[in-house]
Amino acid sequence: MARYIGPVCRLCRAEKTKLFLKGAKCLSDKCPLEKRHYSPGAHGGSLERRKKSLYGIQLREKQKVRRFYGVLERQFRRYFEKAERMKGKTGDNLLTLLERRLDNVIYRLGFAYSRHHARQLVNHGHFLVNGKNVNIASYLTREGDEISFKERSGNNENIKAMIGDLKTKAQTPNWLETDWDNLKGKVIALPKREDVSLPVEEHLIVELYSK
Ligand code: SF4
Repeated sequence: MARYIGPVCRLCRAEKTKLFLKGAKCLSDKCPLEKRHYSPGAHGGSLERRKKSLYGIQLREKQKVRRFYGVLERQFRRYFEKAERMKGKTGDNLLTLLERRLDNVIYRLGFAYSRHHARQLVNHGHFLVNGKNVNIASYLTREGDEISFKERSGNNENIKAMIGDLKTKAQTPNWLETDWDNLKGKVIALPKREDVSLPVEEHLIVELYSK
């Protein structure tokens, strides 16, 4: 499946959940989800009244998570297969694996406006992980990893302005640590299920893929 390039707010409306795909707009009253709680499209309102099948409910739950983390279907299936092979609950493993992606970690450290923005910054080579160049957004971070802006990137005027803006708003989760002065962050522990901020019933995704 190709990457979605249409208006991202439609994705939130389709899932009826804030997926935080647009940076600052998501936290303001300009967020369309604050006003329109029905699905996008001409028949959005009537779709709400239609009873959903169990398959439809499971599918929506999977799409919600996939869109939240900006992961394509095939990649998502690979995460699921990896989660199944790990010890513990598959649903928990799936979510925590996604949470450990480098683009997500950068966003949650407060170094980007959104996950999509974080992915762009990683692709453009602005970050080091443990002092080494990493430009793969799906890089799976580990406990103890140190993520930093490259020196040249840290001196970039646009990045300086962004950091000045984000520093006042960021809420770094407990499993991460942000060092704003040195423009770096650390994974101090692996994330747990309760660290995932998206409201999701992951057992529905497990059921969907276990058919
Ligand atoms: Fe758009 Fe962000 Fe609101 Fe989603 S949460 S509808 S991306 S403004």
